[in-house]
Amino acid sequence: MRTISCCSNMQNNTERFLDPNIPDEMAATIRPRSLSDFIGHDALKQNLSVFISGAKSRGEAMDHVLLYGPPGLGKTTLAHIVANELGTNFRATAAPMLTKQGDLAAILTSLEPMDVLFIDEIHRLPTAIEEVLYSAMEDFKLDIMLGEGPSAKSVRIDLPPFTLVGATTRTGLLSNPLRDRFGIDLRLSFYSPDDLAKIIMRSANILGMPIDVDGAKALARSARGTPRIANRLLKRARDFATALGRDAISADTIKTTLVQLHIDESGLDEMDREYMTAIVRHYAGGPVGIENLAAALSEPADTIEDVIEPYLMQLGFIQRTPRGRIVTDAGYAHLGLVK
Ligand code: ADP
Repeated sequence: MRTISCCSNMQNNTERFLDPNIPDEMAATIRPRSLSDFIGHDALKQNLSVFISGAKSRGEAMDHVLLYGPPGLGKTTLAHIVANELGTNFRATAAPMLTKQGDLAAILTSLEPMDVLFIDEIHRLPTAIEEVLYSAMEDFKLDIMLGEGPSAKSVRIDLPPFTLVGATTRTGLLSNPLRDRFGIDLRLSFYSPDDLAKIIMRSANILGMPIDVDGAKALARSARGTPRIANRLLKRARDFATALGRDAISADTIKTTLVQLHIDESGLDEMDREYMTAIVRHYAGGPVGIENLAAALSEPADTIEDVIEPYLMQLGFIQRTPRGRIVTDAGYAHLGLVK
């Protein structure tokens, strides 16, 4: 498999340690390469493996795949795995890099038959580019306008059959025509602590710093259900273990790591606590609209919606209601406050 990257990874600028958008160090080393290495999401893997072998045995391009779920859960990893298992090239780009129809046309016309094209943050595609994608996905044809004004003409170019893998954190922002063109829809949800512990043990082996089961479980509980965060915490725990002169990571090392990084036993960091405290102190526990919160915290609304809120909702600490965000009784209790 040849991996060709059309662009740098689009990332958020925040310095927050637990931000699952921050790129991974050594991502390529730790990233699972086959479905059998990909831990958890068993039903999804079984389906995907059927679709992959079906396409391979028919000698056809696999149906287009839409992957959705919060950042850091394995969407890019799965896209790589699909290409790997199909034995094809992997081309990657991100919607914010595609500003003109020509940007997409250049990528599409350079594909080889059966290639996997990965478009990250696909909900951010400008409408004009999205429209080019419709016929490319449906008929493997590229319809583009050459020139402008009265002399402009439309040309149709044949494309090789390919598989588009689109990843998004926001299915709600995807237009229906685009969504309808994906034959396979896969949702990634937060990982269970058991699966995260397995991911941590696997990564620790690859990094050459063993971790005991208690250590892996303690780390898994604080990793927000997110493999990328689990791997990042593991690397910091490895630093602390080295500083302490240990050759393995124990539950004690994890405890030190979490205290030093100001991460609590539920995996919340200062930003999460600041977010909930702002709702409690300034808005009497809510409801409060996202724009007000974004202004109060000086964080983009996108970051709050994609990075902070999904995990707090999963823990039942906050609710998103039509009137705004609310801190729940469980959220108050976590902050040590009474309603
Ligand atoms: P996303 O594209 O959803 O933001 P990535 O695919 O980049 O997330 O995954 C982040 C990191 O987490 C990867 O580098 C990979 O090492 C690890 N990872 C994700 N899912 C799994 C999994 N199911 N098993 C093992 N490691 C995983």
